[in-house]
Amino acid sequence: MTNTLKWMMLALLVFVAACSTNAGSEPNTDASKEEASNSEQASNEQEASEDSSDEEADSKEASDQEEKKEEEEATAEETEPEYRLNEAFWGFEPINDAPAEAVLLTIDDAPDKNAVEMAKTLKELDAPAIFFVNGHFIDTDEEKARLKEIYEMGFAIGNHTMTHADLKSLSEDEQREEILKLNEMIEEVIGEKPKFFRAPFGSNTDYSKSLAKEEGMLVMNWTYGYDWVKEYQNKAALADIMVNSPLLQNGANLLMHDRDWTAAAMSDIVSGLRDKDYDLINPEQIELVKK
Ligand SMILES: [Zn+2]
Repeated sequence: MTNTLKWMMLALLVFVAACSTNAGSEPNTDASKEEASNSEQASNEQEASEDSSDEEADSKEASDQEEKKEEEEATAEETEPEYRLNEAFWGFEPINDAPAEAVLLTIDDAPDKNAVEMAKTLKELDAPAIFFVNGHFIDTDEEKARLKEIYEMGFAIGNHTMTHADLKSLSEDEQREEILKLNEMIEEVIGEKPKFFRAPFGSNTDYSKSLAKEEGMLVMNWTYGYDWVKEYQNKAALADIMVNSPLLQNGANLLMHDRDWTAAAMSDIVSGLRDKDYDLINPEQIELVKK
């Protein structure tokens, strides 16, 4: 390769790197840092393109290919979902190579008395989950602070309606209020709207389902749960049934609540599932609704 061609190629690569860096990242106010990361990227790209292209290759084409590859990789890292909801059991199926033997943990009626403690337990265990919240649990400053704390620990926040009403008993306007008002309240506290919706009692209506979808929320019921049944309202019985339920299966969507006995059993539930070789699905891996 001639020196002139090399310099032309380098100049093109630096240009491409500068464009893609600016487009794909947060505004960077530290000019010298940006320059450093750009030139590092450019020299890496040059090495890569020298390895892969022969001397006859057209330098413009090579840099175009590099740019395309970079875009594809960036998209894959950010948005490629790994699990898809199956409404037949409200559980999850792997999309590609994600392990099928995995379950999702969800905690409803939060953040009441136990949710922060439950989140701390889960975080210590590196166990992801969705907390489905109600408006009447986030209407004081103290309650808002609980929601923020849970969110900042890295958990997904879902919409479980303003007042935990049965949507089937409400008019469309009332359903709208139950769902949209809570989204606004949540956004005020955590800075973003929820991506998941669960109707109280699993009582969905056609209207609420389409509204949730319009709002960009994935509607989910659950595969199984036991903590509202009298005989399982203690730590040992609940931990046992959540891990040994005949309904436990690949992709199961596990429903729990913000309750004393569920908080007490949480650590045993997570370790019991892991002992049975189940992974815990991270809500970020779930395919969201297509708007
Ligand atoms: Zn509920």
